[in-house]
Amino acid sequence: RAKSEGRGCFRFFETGMDDDAVKSQELRADLRNALSGDELRLRFQPIMNLQTSAVAGFEALLRWQHPRRGLTSPAEFIGLAEMTGAIIDIDRWVLRKACATAAQWPGDLSISVNLTAGQFKEQGLVDAVATALVESNLPADRLRLEITEAALLQDSESVRAMLASLRQMGVRISIDDFGTGYSSLGYLRRFQIDNIKIDRSFVADLNGDARTTPILRAITTLGQDLGISITAEGIETPWQADRLQTMGCHEGQGFHFGAPLDAFEVCDFISANRQGRHVSALVER
Ligand code: C2E
Ligand code: MG
Ligand code: MG
Ligand code: MG
Repeated sequence: RAKSEGRGCFRFFETGMDDDAVKSQELRADLRNALSGDELRLRFQPIMNLQTSAVAGFEALLRWQHPRRGLTSPAEFIGLAEMTGAIIDIDRWVLRKACATAAQWPGDLSISVNLTAGQFKEQGLVDAVATALVESNLPADRLRLEITEAALLQDSESVRAMLASLRQMGVRISIDDFGTGYSSLGYLRRFQIDNIKIDRSFVADLNGDARTTPILRAITTLGQDLGISITAEGIETPWQADRLQTMGCHEGQGFHFGAPLDAFEVCDFISANRQGRHVSALVER
């Protein structure tokens, strides 16, 4: 393309960059109103017990109903929110909203909430979690906090202390996107963790890369021996679900089981699941 566009191409890229800069300037300004303007939404994606086919819980996934751009995915604004510091208030809002919603669900379904790595530097996090639990009346052991490997790479002692306080409250800790970061076995020893979520790139590779199966099997065995449950992300086909179930993987999540749902759709999903019906909402509206 650069060649065919000749001299114009330099300008083309320059304009593109300006557009991006302008766009992110705009988004940054809009982000200030997202919370106060009631523009944030939560969707809930089912997490299934692969061994029993029962729904185990849901992951809260953030959406921004932007006044002009429409429904905006977290990939487009979480990074920006981290840069401006808005992420602290946003994550706290998610925490409260997710706990309040899950408190309405029947049985002992879990709710998983994503936290950005930076949250683990915030002393107020433990209090924020405690407040969300008290306000919602949700039993602590139904809340799972998803943190990435990046969060565990920060100052080891303070992260350890924070995880210990959270677990003392009864809250569960998941490592999200496992396998994409540094995946050090050291932190399975250093930190107490309840659940590992294997990144969806491994699941996508199941069919193509012969090394993926032994790796997944090893992680599953490791989890079993350490008392850590293993959740596979991004299951899109019945074949993948079947393979992971056979390997002994505990839980699965992905479009095969259900897309992120609106809160009002969650109850239908739960009752259909209890009647043994499979209601796969393939596309997110
Ligand atoms: P994540 O925590 O790993 O969430 C899983 C992502 O994979 C979600 O994208 C989900 O919609 C998508 N997904 C689920 N099943 C499938 C599948 O079968 N195939 C494929 N290709 N994708 C699938 P989403 O909702 O766009 O979220 C992206 C990331 O944004 C999340 O990744 C998480 O890191 C972050 N995020 C989402 N909500 C929050 C939040 O409330 N707070 C923070 N700090 N981060 C959040
Ligand atoms: Mg997650
Ligand atoms: Mg994940
Ligand atoms: Mg992921």
